[in-house]
Amino acid sequence: MTEKVDTIVVGAGPAGSATAYSLAKTGHEVLLVERAKTPGEKNVSGGVLFGSVLHKLIPNFWEEAPVERTITKRSLIFLADDSSVSLDFASPKLGKPPNNGYSIIRKEFDQWFAKRAEEAGALLATGILVDSLLWENKRIVGIKAGDDEIRAKVVVAADGINSLLTEQSGLRKDPQPKNIGLGIKEVIQLPRDIIETRFNLEGNEGTAHTYLGCTKDYPGGGFLYTNCDSLSLGIVMKLPSFSNGANTKAPEFIDHLKQFPYISRLIKDGELIEYSAHLVPEGGYRDLSKLYTDNFLVTGDAAGLALNIGYALEGMNFAIASGIAAAKTIQRAKQQGNYTKKTMKYYQHLMNQSFVLKDMKTFRNAPAIVNNMRLMKTYPEVINNLALNLFQSNGSPRPKLVNLLLKNIVREVSLPHLMLDGIQAVRGL
Ligand SMILES: Cc1cc2nc3c(=O)[nH]c(=O)nc-3n(C[C@H](O)[C@H](O)[C@H](O)COP(=O)(O)OP(=O)(O)OC[C@H]3O[C@@H](n4cnc5c(N)ncnc54)[C@H](O)[C@@H]3O)c2cc1C
Repeated sequence: MTEKVDTIVVGAGPAGSATAYSLAKTGHEVLLVERAKTPGEKNVSGGVLFGSVLHKLIPNFWEEAPVERTITKRSLIFLADDSSVSLDFASPKLGKPPNNGYSIIRKEFDQWFAKRAEEAGALLATGILVDSLLWENKRIVGIKAGDDEIRAKVVVAADGINSLLTEQSGLRKDPQPKNIGLGIKEVIQLPRDIIETRFNLEGNEGTAHTYLGCTKDYPGGGFLYTNCDSLSLGIVMKLPSFSNGANTKAPEFIDHLKQFPYISRLIKDGELIEYSAHLVPEGGYRDLSKLYTDNFLVTGDAAGLALNIGYALEGMNFAIASGIAAAKTIQRAKQQGNYTKKTMKYYQHLMNQSFVLKDMKTFRNAPAIVNNMRLMKTYPEVINNLALNLFQSNGSPRPKLVNLLLKNIVREVSLPHLMLDGIQAVRGL
């Protein structure tokens, strides 16, 4: 069977639904194709969604979207075997719309967003796995799914990190394992009042924790986000950590995280209701794919548009921003009746102007930090030892703070490494 539409968007995650919604609401013909029976079924984020981009597309979206809690507290926590040092920030300013973060559950959020695109006029086709791009005279003219061919003036790849389409288009080389993270996440159910007591929350306030020092001898970090009546707990680690003779298998890392006393108390008596794993692009600015070619645009994770800077991981709002930019490019191309590289190039221009590529460029050295074991393991231990020395009173004379600092840092880290790490942190962050 052969069909023809103006635009095909492959993948109904945040990038795909943002593209389809933006096009459909301005009267464009758009087909949104998703392999899952229900959008979001297998999609994974931590997940805190920063709201400002989606607010521009769907004003006050939080009033209708299935958001869980408004993040008004953030903590960066350095874990050691039996202790923790926490840097907490809590402010109602964080909860002020639209710039705040919301904890979300992807299964519900993606379903809502794709439905919004459908209501705006997009044709949503679920349960369809796109096998490949359709080519004619070396040009992309549509997609193939099983025996079906669907033709379009433009195809948008929003098919996530393992984007088959981006690879086939020639815009992206094989991703290097060192530039990919593996996220493993558990959703742990707990009564709402227990969550609010344990995390000192009121009403729909929520908190987001980032953990360092919890991934044994491998680079990575952990997270915990509060939902209404569940917690999202997980780790994100570099893919090679699970090969190269790693003694610990992937699920054991999350078990390890759950054994830290700081965390075991927070999740006590909770019931595991969901377990998932997913890849995350972590190569940053230097590992981005090319974003366009004739009749073809790449959005979201498919292009590598995500940023992990150790204390925060952003991808969903980048995906939505890229979807909006892709839609604007297609609207312009339609007006000009031209879908070649010449008009598709406008997408690159819009992305260059957006906070997404600006942030990725500013933090282009951040991937090196996430790979630095001293920053991920040694320093959290040093900080914990320092805190113990600082607060413990054991009858011995109390050293001056500067002596404590020197004793704890220099004992664990050589001076050249200390200087190197300082330079890396300044360059990266
Ligand atoms: C553990 C973890 C924690 C994270 N935490 C956060 C966070 O807190 N905040 C944040 O902003 N980001 C977070 N991220 C990153 C974020 O999840 C991604 O950047 C974001 O989901 C990218 O959106 P996307 O639409 O580009 O891709 P995806 O969300 O991956 O969506 C791709 C869609 O395409 C579909 N698809 C794929 N192939 C095909 C095909 N061949 N045919 C048809 N359909 C197809 C998929 O089913 C899916 O629906 C996290 C990621 C992980 C793994």
